[in-house]
Amino acid sequence: MRSKMRSETRPEVQAFVALGGNLGDAQATVRWAMDQLANLPHTRLLARSSLYRSAPVDASGPDFINAVVELVTRLSAPALLAALQQLEHLAGRERPYRNAPRTLDLDLLLFGAACISSPALTVPHPRMAQRAFVLLPLAEIAPQSVSPAQLQAVSGQTLSRIPAQCI
Ligand code: ATP
Ligand code: CA
Ligand code: CA
Repeated sequence: MRSKMRSETRPEVQAFVALGGNLGDAQATVRWAMDQLANLPHTRLLARSSLYRSAPVDASGPDFINAVVELVTRLSAPALLAALQQLEHLAGRERPYRNAPRTLDLDLLLFGAACISSPALTVPHPRMAQRAFVLLPLAEIAPQSVSPAQLQAVSGQTLSRIPAQCI
């Protein structure tokens, strides 16, 4: 019932989105995507993490650029997922095979306290706890969302924070 409500009348929900990419100018693409997320309808971007660099996991190809943003949105979770997929498409995302290199990947990590398990959307993201490239940027902007035990569990994974650009 709630998913049929108009966005204007939905309560605001805090959401976290992971951004990643390893094709083309991934730093520029991730920054572009952050700006696009800030401009989504009925949505505000509250925080953006640093950019991080990680080696591909279970895949070949260039290093990944990763980040996490915090949104508050009146969109439903399916509507937010559709917006994320539209941005991936605009960035030229292709899916030739699982874990293929990609220009842009946008994963919905958390949507308020929602637990969603539908064919198209699982929230919290089922693999987020296994990934330093998700947990470290998330902990940077929302330390209360990640426990020390979770950080310890991924401490063997190499991840480097990219210093902010001097302009
Ligand atoms: P992973 O999910 O392990 O990070 P991936 O990001 O490479 O892998 P994709 O090819 O980008 O996987 O997405 C496959 C499908 O996952 C999408 O079509 C989407 O419907 C589904 N999906 C399920 N839950 C989520 C979520 N929380 N965020 C984004 N996509 C999701
Ligand atoms: Ca992903
Ligand atoms: Ca994805």
